[in-house]
This record gives sequence, C-alpha cells and structure tokens, in this order.
Amino acid sequence: MGDRRQGEGAQLAAFKQFSMCINCMLCYAACPVVAKEPDFLGPAAIALGHRYNMDSRDEGAPERNEIFRGEGTVFSCSYANECSEVCPKHVDPAAAINQSKLLAVIDWATSFVVKREK
Ligand code: SF4
Repeated sequence: MGDRRQGEGAQLAAFKQFSMCINCMLCYAACPVVAKEPDFLGPAAIALGHRYNMDSRDEGAPERNEIFRGEGTVFSCSYANECSEVCPKHVDPAAAINQSKLLAVIDWATSFVVKREK
C-alpha cells in the first residue's frame, strides 16, 4: 500500500477533476485547434492521459509522454481555453494540456540522465 494507496491527499486532489469526464465531447466541439487540425488528439483524451500520468499507481507515463511530445498532441494546443469554458463537469482540459507540456519536456530531459529499462 504505502504511497500507492488510492485516494491519498494531495495526489488525488491534483488529478481527481481530470477523472470526472463524461465523454460528452463538448470540448472537442469548442476547440479551435480541432477545427483546423482534425488529427489533434484533443482536450478530453489529453486530460485523461494526464490524469494517469499524475497517478503513482500507473507506470505508463514514459510512453504517454513520448506520445504527448509527438505531432498533433499537447504542443498543438494554442491555449484558447474554450475546452475548459464549456466543460459541464468542470474538468479543466486546458490546464491538463499545459501541465502535460511541462511534464513531457521534463520527461524528455530526464531521459538523458536516467537510464530507462525497456
Ligand atoms: S467537455 Fe468535459 S466532460 Fe465533456 S468530453 Fe470534454 S473534458 Fe469530458
């Protein structure tokens, strides 16, 4: 158990809102990047990936961060913030995307100094 127990304090508070998505797709309808780049991964999917990246019980962050650094993902976001404005569940996908940008870059930089097992 220890630090991997569900529901513990600050960690849960940090990602809980990203777990509240009901897949209504309103954020996709509102997003100007989705309108211009149909292959953009989009707000809800990135928010869900970010939710798991923030959960210490999950070990898929390196793979997700690699995807997030690729084409049509977090760095395509222009931070219009429309996704967060329209979300009926008060998920903040724009925050998830911007936090993901930082974590994806940190993960990339860390990969040069910390050897990863494949
Ligand atoms: S608008 Fe909110 S609830 Fe709807 S899909 Fe997007 S993140 Fe999920």
